[in-house]
This record gives sequence, structure tokens and C-alpha cells, in this order.
Amino acid sequence: MARVGNSIIKGIEIQELIDTLNRAYADEWLAYYQYFIESKVVKGLMKDAAIVELTQHAADELNHATLVADRILQLGGTPLLHPNDWFNHTHCGYEAPNDFDVVSILNDAIKGEQCAIETYSKIVELTRDKDIVTYDIVSQILADEVEHEEDLQALHDDITEFVEDIKKNLR
Ligand code: FE
Ligand code: FE
Ligand code: MG
Repeated sequence: MARVGNSIIKGIEIQELIDTLNRAYADEWLAYYQYFIESKVVKGLMKDAAIVELTQHAADELNHATLVADRILQLGGTPLLHPNDWFNHTHCGYEAPNDFDVVSILNDAIKGEQCAIETYSKIVELTRDKDIVTYDIVSQILADEVEHEEDLQALHDDITEFVEDIKKNLR
């Protein structure tokens, strides 16, 4: 544990920080797997564009898990050790894909990002002016989650517009 490094944390319990980060850590692993499996099962029109985006996002979520785990360790905590713990600590949960259509998959993924944005906004508020290092890390992750939502929404809109155009031309 970084002794002097952690002495600069003010006005917040380190254990509270560790617990909060472990919940985010659980979310990141579940988000990683959700994207991974979505990229495998997705079907339908323009699915190739979705696969590129979903695969990139899976890699981003795994990187977030790495950033959060490293910070938990710096704080003297232990990242959750068992996958069962992910379900006991997750805030955003896990939505197994049940409809593999690309639009439905994108809707599920957008919902996940919106939850991640809410979660990280709260951690940004919790750490602002109290723990600058965690604040910096979660701000960076929050910016990624905002980009994720935007990418998925743009793709969702392109695909639904494309499908509408095809239907119009068939009339
Ligand atoms: Fe993430
Ligand atoms: Fe994300
Ligand atoms: Mg993207």
C-alpha cells in the first residue's frame, strides 16, 4: 500500500473508496463479458459494423477493470477474487442477450452504458477534492463511457434509418 500516497486522501474513508471501486470493478467485468458475448451472437443487417464496435468496447471495459483493480491495490484493498462476487457487488447488473438482432443488442448495450455513466458520475462526485488520483482515473473512465454510449446510439440510429429507407423503397 502507498503510505504517503494514501495520506493525501482527505475527507473520505479509504474502505468506502475500496468498496465503491470494487462495485465498479464487478460492473466492468460483467460489461466486458456482455460485450464479448454480444459480439459473438449478434445477427442481422449491418452486424459487421456492430461487431467492430462491440469488440472495441469489450477491450475498453477490460482496460477499465485493469485501471480500477490497480487503484484498489494502491489503496491497500483487494479486487474481488471470485466471479460469484461480481454478482454480489455489481451495480449495473448483467443483461444476457435474449434477442440477437443487432438493434436489440445495441439497445441492451446502450442501457449498460447509461448505467455506467450514472455510476461513474457518482464516484467522480465522491472523490472530487478528496482523492485526486482516483478522481483522475474515474474521470477518464467516465469519458470513455460517454463515448461508448454515443458510438452505440449513432450506430443504432444509422441502422434503424437504413432499415426505414429500405422499407420505403419497397412500398
Ligand atoms: Fe467501463
Ligand atoms: Fe463502456
Ligand atoms: Mg466505440
